Amino acid sequence: MGATIIDGKKSAERVRAQVAGHVERLKSVHGITPGLAVVLVGEDPASQVYVRSKGKMTVEVGMKSIEHRLEASTGETDLLALISRLNADPEIHGILVQLPLPDHLDEDLVINAIDPVKDVDGFHILNVGLLGTGQKSMVPCTPLGCLMMLREHHGELSGLNAVVIGRSNIVGKPMAQLLLGDSCTVTIAHSRTRDLPDVVRRADIVVAAVGRPQMVPGDWIKPGATVIDVGINRIDAPEKGDGRTRLVGDVDFASAAAVAGAITPVPGGVGPMTIACLLANTVIACCRANGLAEPEGLTA
Ligand code: NDP
Repeated sequence: MGATIIDGKKSAERVRAQVAGHVERLKSVHGITPGLAVVLVGEDPASQVYVRSKGKMTVEVGMKSIEHRLEASTGETDLLALISRLNADPEIHGILVQLPLPDHLDEDLVINAIDPVKDVDGFHILNVGLLGTGQKSMVPCTPLGCLMMLREHHGELSGLNAVVIGRSNIVGKPMAQLLLGDSCTVTIAHSRTRDLPDVVRRADIVVAAVGRPQMVPGDWIKPGATVIDVGINRIDAPEKGDGRTRLVGDVDFASAAAVAGAITPVPGGVGPMTIACLLANTVIACCRANGLAEPEGLTA
């Protein structure tokens, strides 16, 4: 294996330490404690795990964490009323509505009801437009984490060929915008892309955000390329015993690591950075709400 392993856990620790330092200053100098409200509707097991670990890490960096757990049957009016209260609450600087929402709720309507300044997921249509036009916005956490790791690893990204596999609003599209913002030449690939292996082979940077276990093999990777694997897929792991499972990415790690210059592992790559970037966005939202200087290096 030749590739450098990009350690997302270490990068996330650095981001969290920086956030914690800034939170401490906000408290001691300005008497402000940043607050993050997380809204969970229903009992999706994966969402419950995410919400729990977001809450724990929010508290660990010194911020206030408020969780609102609502019944799966909660109606749109009640959910919008809660968001409206959180929008108006001066002690809440970030609001995150955990997705997916139950089918009877209109996700776009709910997300666009969040005050864009408090939209720490960066999914509000205003933030999407600001990011797309290169203006100051709240940046979606997962692509922001990927960008931070790329900058940390490469330094300058300008002029590099980047291929993003996946065009979701949550990962693929904002990732492409961020890479474009750093002057990469960007290709967005998706399920209709012709000759995907050839497209990927031209990339200096590959970001895989597909949701298909180990779909990208090493022989699609240009020697020396940097590979960011966003995928989180649970597969059977009979080698660990009956009924056991393990997490893998969208990239076949072993064969890709033999060719790539650098690669993120799954787990331990993009995942930890996503939560760290949520904390970074919350501290930034708090600074913006209070007209204070933002910490350097915590956003795009
Ligand atoms: P979506 O399902 O919303 O999007 C997947 C994208 O992959 C689509 O654009 C789809 O194309 C494309 N795609 C599907 N099959 C192929 C194929 N055979 N060839 C090329 N492209 C294909 O997923 P998300 O963007 O939400 O998530 C992607 C992955 O990232 C998942 O594994 C998810 O769990 C993980 N994830 C990880 C996070 C983290 O913190 N690490 C956070 C968020 C997501 P088309 O549009 O044409 O259908």
